[in-house]
Amino acid sequence: MITRDQIRELAQLEDQHSCALSFYFQPTPPRNKAHKEEVILVKDLAREAWRSLESKSSESKNNGKCESARADLDRIVRLSQDLRGNGSHAKAVFACSAQNFWREYDLPAQLAATQLFVDRHFHLKPLARLLGAFPSLGIVLVDRHRARLFDLRLGELTEREGFFHPLSRRGRGDGFAGYDGGHAERRVADEARQHFKHLAEFLKDALDKGMFEKWILGCQDAHWPQFEAQLHPYVSQRLLGRFSADVARTGREEVRSEAERIFADSQNKLRDEAVHETMNQARSNGRGVTGLRRVLHALELGEVQTLLLGDNYSAQAVECAGCGHLDAHLVHYCPACGRATRTVVDVAEAILPWVIRRDIELFYVKDNAEFDKVGNIAALLRFRSEAGTRARPVAAKSADYSPSPRARLVGRYRGIATGA
Ligand SMILES: [Zn+2]
Repeated sequence: MITRDQIRELAQLEDQHSCALSFYFQPTPPRNKAHKEEVILVKDLAREAWRSLESKSSESKNNGKCESARADLDRIVRLSQDLRGNGSHAKAVFACSAQNFWREYDLPAQLAATQLFVDRHFHLKPLARLLGAFPSLGIVLVDRHRARLFDLRLGELTEREGFFHPLSRRGRGDGFAGYDGGHAERRVADEARQHFKHLAEFLKDALDKGMFEKWILGCQDAHWPQFEAQLHPYVSQRLLGRFSADVARTGREEVRSEAERIFADSQNKLRDEAVHETMNQARSNGRGVTGLRRVLHALELGEVQTLLLGDNYSAQAVECAGCGHLDAHLVHYCPACGRATRTVVDVAEAILPWVIRRDIELFYVKDNAEFDKVGNIAALLRFRSEAGTRARPVAAKSADYSPSPRARLVGRYRGIATGA
């Protein structure tokens, strides 16, 4: 499965000859001839991609520059023939052999469709959606002397075996007979506190190291206040929710369904709050902007904290071939540097590499009339630059905003989208 660093790597690649291939393979449910149909579909997609490459290269007099893409397309078709029996997983391939680049990833079989894109950048929208729907979560089951840890990453639940046996270290019960009752009780309480403390430290460390991005707790209500008292504020902040669980008896499926429910609730809430806050800020002329033109401008100024996109939002724009400036007005020459522009068919896709590189929080918004009215694109700003600040081109890597360590901390969960 894919990691955040690998996604960043994908967001970095740019091919001047538009030969970056993104292939998403969604297996069909098993039925007669399904696999044969899949292979035919991939062949058709590859043929179409090749045609569009040929027409682009003859337009731009790049003849021959994209020969390497042909080899990539052939390799993708061959690969799709071998994907039979891989029905439980979807697959993504990112290729640009002109730059010696080939990456394959297994994904949960929840893509919208099998698709193939050829462009200057890799197409990351299906991936962004998927990662928003399946972030990396830690799930911890706790009682006074035991703990279990699960990872839920891209739909796969894994238990870390032998995670915690804190009491066995010091021999629990050792010497009980030799103490009076009060002493033994205090000792048990003290050991429980040590156990919670130890666990709280582990969680802080795990979040710091990026083992997971958020976490969910399963415990008895009675233990929560004691455990909560030991949590670092930063760890508390990343707790998405709690459910009632017995450490020894709770099964995997229960852990999974509770975690998915808590995660979905929390994301819906976050998204609704972000929409509400952005609208309010935009109305008061504060830290919110709506509409493509203003959002692009804010992105170029490095102001955007949270980007909101309509679920099916798509719009044309132009992109400067020289400095990378994106413009909502379909002008032929770049207003920033004067060089020729080219049309970007889907600006919602074109800004994703930028969003990922800059750790901008992204939400896809569905069925929201208020959001629809403002054009299905809006952004909440982290600050507002001085009026008249010159825009930095969206695609210029050298202009990438480096968040302060604190902003990075707050933004750890950014750059991945949440569907409605
Ligand atoms: Zn330009």
